[in-house]
Amino acid sequence: MKLLLLGPPGAGKGTQAHRLMARYDIPQLATGDMLRKEVANGSELGRAAARIMERGDLVCDDLIMAMIAGRIDREDCRNGFILDGFPRSAAQAEALDTMLSSRSSDLDRVIEIGVDDDILVSRITGRFTCRACGAGYHDVFCRPRESGVCDFCGARDFDRRADDNEETVRSRLAVYHRQTAPLLPYYASRGILVTVDGMAAIDKVTEQILAALPTPSAIDSDDGRPLE
Ligand code: AMP
Repeated sequence: MKLLLLGPPGAGKGTQAHRLMARYDIPQLATGDMLRKEVANGSELGRAAARIMERGDLVCDDLIMAMIAGRIDREDCRNGFILDGFPRSAAQAEALDTMLSSRSSDLDRVIEIGVDDDILVSRITGRFTCRACGAGYHDVFCRPRESGVCDFCGARDFDRRADDNEETVRSRLAVYHRQTAPLLPYYASRGILVTVDGMAAIDKVTEQILAALPTPSAIDSDDGRPLE
């Protein structure tokens, strides 16, 4: 299953990716998370990306492609992957097509998680994630069952993103509408786009996505064997 989750910042792509990973035994490939790791490590790429991310602009395509190239060939992608936050521009979508077609492969589904802009700002400015497993939470809408403890892995360390402030969020939304939303008609014309209502409750969004996807047992792995 090669899946792309598209939607504005705060739509819930990471939350839904996290739920789909275990079900399909595929990893989430989130370019934002990869970039934040580079920034935390102080790598050359991280230093180049940090200021751009603080502004909410897009990191240049060459850096993104260098980061993602080879990632889909790793062993954990044998059953596919969930792309989250990539591609974000027409140039990146074309580069992804080239990368996949050179492996005689293609995306199976593109899921658009639609959410109105006006509720995204309040969603984003209260969110935090588990530092150990990446599970997403929110101060108001989705608190851990036990305060300060991750529901999934029991860790007690959480992160809040530097770019989850109102000013940067508004700029990220503008960038989404200008550069990423134009990919929607492109994938619709290929018949692989499904739009779900991202304003529904989290479980309902998951249900809508699962309804749009083949069941895990119906998917063949890249080497043609049915999955266990
Ligand atoms: P995200 O975690 O997906 O919201 O991404 C956080 C920030 O990382 C974005 O606002 C961009 O600055 C940068 N970023 C993440 N993915 C990409 C991408 N595919 N292309 C360019 N910039 C990206």
